[in-house]
Amino acid sequence: MKKPYRIVMLGRQGAGKGTQCSKLAATLGIVHISTGDMLRAALKTGSSYGLLAADYMERGELVPDMIILGIVHERLEANDCKVYGFVLDGFPRTLAQAQALDKFLEPEGIKLVINLDVPKEVVLERLSSRRVCTGCGRTYSILKAPMVDWSCDDCGEAVIQRNDDKPEAIARRLFLYDEVTSPLIEWFDQSGKLATVKGDEDFEVVAREITRVVDMVVT
Ligand code: ADP
Ligand code: ZN
Repeated sequence: MKKPYRIVMLGRQGAGKGTQCSKLAATLGIVHISTGDMLRAALKTGSSYGLLAADYMERGELVPDMIILGIVHERLEANDCKVYGFVLDGFPRTLAQAQALDKFLEPEGIKLVINLDVPKEVVLERLSSRRVCTGCGRTYSILKAPMVDWSCDDCGEAVIQRNDDKPEAIARRLFLYDEVTSPLIEWFDQSGKLATVKGDEDFEVVAREITRVVDMVVT
């Protein structure tokens, strides 16, 4: 693929999009745009849309398109995205978002959509056992805890269970993925830009497969 790279990563919550996207972004020298991380950062700084979004996020609901589209559009307009490109993680999640993205990127559009495919039973298990550092966002699990008393190995802050990783919110998020987001797989496939990567393998194996898929795109 030639620069600017314009990549979307689709996949269920807990499929490993976040870690694979940061690795891919570092490898290609592009920006990793995670709408979930942007919303959590906005909440931390107390910005008004962060506070507005928090209520939806805690319940595992989707944040209204209006809010999401505003922050994504602004980010895509920045020079680093225009020159080097980006990988989008957690966006688009609705048909309206996908259509808006097409508009934002006219006339070139997205070059590749990677569908990181992991079965529902697997992500359910991963999400239920996931724990996250409140300082730096590093993820742990009940099977791979920090070395000292649920304090982050990297930054020392508390490692906790996200409210949206509690059982009811997990069920709601996975339901919304199947109902609202998964139709986008078919939608992107019709434009011939979709590649499916099996995400239920070792991190390194999945990362290599993603790089292979990116290398195959010639434009
Ligand atoms: P996950 O993929 O595990 O749900 P994220 O960190 O990607 O975690 O997102 C956390 C929450 O942020 C979502 O449950 C949702 O409330 C909100 N969110 C993130 N991206 C979007 C989006 N594109 N559209 C609507 N809501 C979003
Ligand atoms: Zn930390």
